[in-house]
Amino acid sequence: MNNYVNHPVISVDEIIRPTRLEIDIKVLTENYNKIKEYVAPAKMMPILKANAYGHGLVRVAQLMEELSADYIGVAVLEEGILLREHGIKIPILILGGLWGNQIPLFLKHDLTITASSIGKLDQINELAGQMKIRAKVHLKIDTGMERLGVHYYSADKFLETAVKYSNISLDGIFSHFANSEKEDFAYTRLQLERFNEVLYFFEKHSIKTPLRHISNSGAILQTPEANLDMVRPGIMLYGVYPSAEVAKTIPVMPALKWKSLVVYFKVIKAGHPVGYGSTWAPDHDIRAVTVPVGYGDGYLRSMSHKAEVLIKGNRYPVAGTFSMDQIVVNIENDSVYNADEVLLIGEDGNNKITVEDLAKWAGTIPYEILTNINTRVPRVYIE
Ligand SMILES: *Cc1c(COP(=O)(O)O)cnc(C)c1O
Repeated sequence: MNNYVNHPVISVDEIIRPTRLEIDIKVLTENYNKIKEYVAPAKMMPILKANAYGHGLVRVAQLMEELSADYIGVAVLEEGILLREHGIKIPILILGGLWGNQIPLFLKHDLTITASSIGKLDQINELAGQMKIRAKVHLKIDTGMERLGVHYYSADKFLETAVKYSNISLDGIFSHFANSEKEDFAYTRLQLERFNEVLYFFEKHSIKTPLRHISNSGAILQTPEANLDMVRPGIMLYGVYPSAEVAKTIPVMPALKWKSLVVYFKVIKAGHPVGYGSTWAPDHDIRAVTVPVGYGDGYLRSMSHKAEVLIKGNRYPVAGTFSMDQIVVNIENDSVYNADEVLLIGEDGNNKITVEDLAKWAGTIPYEILTNINTRVPRVYIE
């Protein structure tokens, strides 16, 4: 086992904190290959925003490059620059909107720009001309999300502008689905129809169509007719499905385990409350252990009174309201020792705790669980 740790402060030898994320590179690789095979011949743009959904931006990007991904997609400029600074060479599309005077930074770091208005195209063309660089651009079309992009019903002028500018290399055009993980495909199909109408522009004017892409995880799983030239898998790459109801047509596996260790053992007497606010007390004497993880790590406080953990394959409830850095686990009459492993997410024997379980306890979606796991938690890679 060769560990690679992605942590802002400390190196692997110095890690003294028992709480960590273990990310299995083999599982990530298999997930990537399964998706790629399923969507072939469409190209792949794995989505690595928000620290690669918590899995560690740089290492996951290196893996995607090793696997010959065609593109990487991230949300914000800083994520793209960080990847360039770590030597990532493949095309990187910044999915979010342009802000302020970011354009020169995009050009300097060879990052692909999402353009979402004619005004932005004007600025990009002008600055690229000044810097004597051809700006790489993907156009964003809004087909029914009302978030970012030019509306599908008034896109022609936008496309005309993009193709006429000599300092712009029009490499792609894309849109985004609002409901692709739902059981009902009607809105997804409507959005795809709208996108295809916009794309007719290229055929009509006999202009080479740039890379067309619209599919996120839900659409990759359920509506293959939307694959077009490239797909953008996010959460499924990490082995988590975008919703409970989505058709699981590709068997991906979770790549991440969240682990900690028992650091303290005690008996709690009946009636003695646990944690801030004294929100819970046992009605009989119990054994309990303290585990050094809390909402400051992204182990969300809203899971208090619902969450369970695995110790030696057994499920135990977390007692009381979570602290920032510690939780207390009720082990009743069982025997657990200091330095025993505690699984917050993962599988052990016949028992498992999933990202979906945490989402249910917290009243949120799996995406929010993954992206909230703080950088304070070291990422350890199982190669
Ligand atoms: C986040 C994102 C994706 C990936 O979505 P998943 O549901 O995680 O697959 C794809 N495209 C865009 C524009 C995104 O913002």
